[in-house]
Amino acid sequence: MEHRQPRPDRRDPGSLGDLSLAVHAGLGPDPGSGALRTPIVMANSYELPDDPSAISWSATAPHLYTRNTGVNQLALERRIAAMERAEAAVALASGVAALHAVFFTHLRSGDHVIVSDVVYEATWRLWSDLLPRKYGIEASFVDSTDLEALRRAVRPTTRLVAVEAIANPTTRVTDVAAVAEIAHAAGALLMVDSTFTPPPLYRPLADGADLVVHSLTKFVNGHGDAMGGAVAGRRDLVEAIKADAMVDVGGVISPFNAAQIHRGAVTLPLRLRQHQASAAALAERLEADPRIAFVAYPGLPSHPQHALARRQFGDRGFGAMMAFALDGPPALQNRFVANLRLITSAFSLGHEDSLIVHVGGDGPRARAYPEPFRRLGHLRLSVGLEDTADLLADVAAALDATHAG
Ligand SMILES: *Cc1c(COP(=O)(O)O)cnc(C)c1O
Repeated sequence: MEHRQPRPDRRDPGSLGDLSLAVHAGLGPDPGSGALRTPIVMANSYELPDDPSAISWSATAPHLYTRNTGVNQLALERRIAAMERAEAAVALASGVAALHAVFFTHLRSGDHVIVSDVVYEATWRLWSDLLPRKYGIEASFVDSTDLEALRRAVRPTTRLVAVEAIANPTTRVTDVAAVAEIAHAAGALLMVDSTFTPPPLYRPLADGADLVVHSLTKFVNGHGDAMGGAVAGRRDLVEAIKADAMVDVGGVISPFNAAQIHRGAVTLPLRLRQHQASAAALAERLEADPRIAFVAYPGLPSHPQHALARRQFGDRGFGAMMAFALDGPPALQNRFVANLRLITSAFSLGHEDSLIVHVGGDGPRARAYPEPFRRLGHLRLSVGLEDTADLLADVAAALDATHAG
């Protein structure tokens, strides 16, 4: 078939609201066919231009080989960059591949990093073991809400500060603007893992972060049927990641997964409204129940960083992740989970279905958790898109069944 001349993109993403942006960013008629949806291009190689001396491996055009770029990858990267209002983004095979890509590209042996002492499990393992042991990169684990401790941890070799906007799993909130000031005064980059706070809930780049990382597997895709990760930020920092960690290390996303996530992300702002409305109702319901020992949700006035969360996230919400525990031993927490009918016990988060996982209070990673997380363990709940009333009823019935014996 005839190739059509691509029309110039008439949309100005900078002027669009969040819903419009999520619908239109990275979406335009396919220049080859005129199709209104980007075809899934599974080809791993593309025809070279007549003058191959002009090609650049880290550039987004022309496509050469799917380890440097491809149709669906590029569409997803454009969408993520637009939604984060970033200069550029790179899409990778998983959230962990995205984290690794930042470390691998922007650090070298002898460098020092400051990492929040409450972070995602794999991040914690990378910093507590793999990177120091294998690559000689030193890490200091610091409570990211203690700005004095962060300042004290700075060394002449500090190159990166890494935090989560809302921490997995304790929901601790980090003051990104304040930490950015400390990082930049130290000559270091600030990386924010924003998996719990996807746009439009929060855009860490606007508060001074240099790089924002997402596990696209979670809220951005939202449907639990693809893995992916992304890093967004300044163009030079992202291009370096493409060259070093994608082209030369190979953590590329499959075109199919990129297309799934590209589609899932369309409804992200809309989904967040429902996720967050139910999360707020559940958090309040649980906190008011005498059988519940504690609830950690940044939207509750009892949350230690509630005021900061209000300031940082404005009126856009507090996310849909919470941690809580029944007043009782681990066996009781397990019984409660087993008594749930609608909420599924599974890892992962940010899906359309509510997911819960029981996490023990022991182990080296939990040492940084506040009480009562350590004494009781906790249940990490990702609130899905079911009716709020159904979720409330499921929790109430499971609590009754658990205490009935
Ligand atoms: C899940 C998660 C990751 C890792 O993402 P994968 O897609 O599972 O590799 C990183 N950070 C946070 C905060 C997460 O919840």
